[in-house]
Amino acid sequence: MTSAVRHSHRRHVMFSERIDRLQPSPIREILSVIDRPGMVSFAGGLPASETLPDWSGTASADVLQYGPSEGEPALRQVVSERLRSLGVDAPPERVMILGGSQQGIDLVAKLFIDRGTPVAVESPTYLAALQVFRLYGARFVDLDVLGENLARLAYVIPTFANPTGACASDAERDELARRCLSAGTVLFEDDPYRDLAYDDCDRRPVASRMSGGSWVYQGSFSKTFAPGLRLGYLAASAELFPRLVMLKQALDLHTSRLSQSIVLEAVTDPGWDARVEGLVRFYSSRRDAFESAMRRHLGDLAEWHTPRGGLFYWLRLNEHIDTRPLLAEAIRRNVAFMPGEEFFPNEPVLGTMRLNFSHASGDDADRGLATLAGLLRDRTR
Ligand code: PMP
Repeated sequence: MTSAVRHSHRRHVMFSERIDRLQPSPIREILSVIDRPGMVSFAGGLPASETLPDWSGTASADVLQYGPSEGEPALRQVVSERLRSLGVDAPPERVMILGGSQQGIDLVAKLFIDRGTPVAVESPTYLAALQVFRLYGARFVDLDVLGENLARLAYVIPTFANPTGACASDAERDELARRCLSAGTVLFEDDPYRDLAYDDCDRRPVASRMSGGSWVYQGSFSKTFAPGLRLGYLAASAELFPRLVMLKQALDLHTSRLSQSIVLEAVTDPGWDARVEGLVRFYSSRRDAFESAMRRHLGDLAEWHTPRGGLFYWLRLNEHIDTRPLLAEAIRRNVAFMPGEEFFPNEPVLGTMRLNFSHASGDDADRGLATLAGLLRDRTR
């Protein structure tokens, strides 16, 4: 592709108004050179290293000092290799480590969304992304009519979506990339579940099909390692990345270095692949047990597709009742679920529910589903 054609896609990129006021942090720029040998720095507010608490962890004591906004170089390198193996154009210089991928949603929203900015989303979609986009004033438009609505941003979870568990086909991924490219819409691909694949399906990132366009791709260590560490990452096309780094500087300077060092050690351990394979086996058998329990208890009350990965079942009840008021009653009976109505950007479809199958043990899941079925029978009789 010639560079003229490449740029033609990017001509349309529009940032939020606040980006006119976005400036690099002078202090952060200086901090990136103070490690140079012989440098005497009066610049930053770094505590004297000898005053930092004693450190007996396996990571270097540097983790207690301030660090780079983009993240630890070694971890960015690992993420970059991983993303490149998926076909995403993500050299280490365009990888940023996040305090959880939820943080990436906030950064991208800040970069693009003003009051009334059209943002294309799936319906239903991840409710905490809707929460952030709403906070910045987004107007939600349907992903299926992307071209006509000239959305500035398209937020998608193509692989084992939250809440539906759905995995987009190769053709759907191609089509989405094609429509983003031709409408000049920025693709924002959120991919925290991709490693939790129990059955075969197309998973090559949409971002790997966005050559010449604008995109942000993000992932997370929450589902494969530990959510409490708050560790995620993003990669972005070249014209977006520096602005995302400035927003990150302004937000929290950088992600916890201790968390980064713990994750770096885990992902570079020779046992990492075996760990992920073990997770997949564990959750895959949980899903199978959940599926049989669902058939037993809810078979005549709802419909669903068996998710090929991820953590969720999406239920469509035969009776189109609002499930929100059912939640309080369910909690009184010691069972909790997510009312599906919460996941819709605009008008909700009634009679929908998201059930997580990864957390509860087989016996607890069976008991919980029996209770839920009882409740639904009482309500719909
Ligand atoms: N995106 C999606 C689609 C999610 O489901 C989640 C967590 N449930 C997140 C982002 C945030 O994950 P984290 O901040 O833990 O990386």
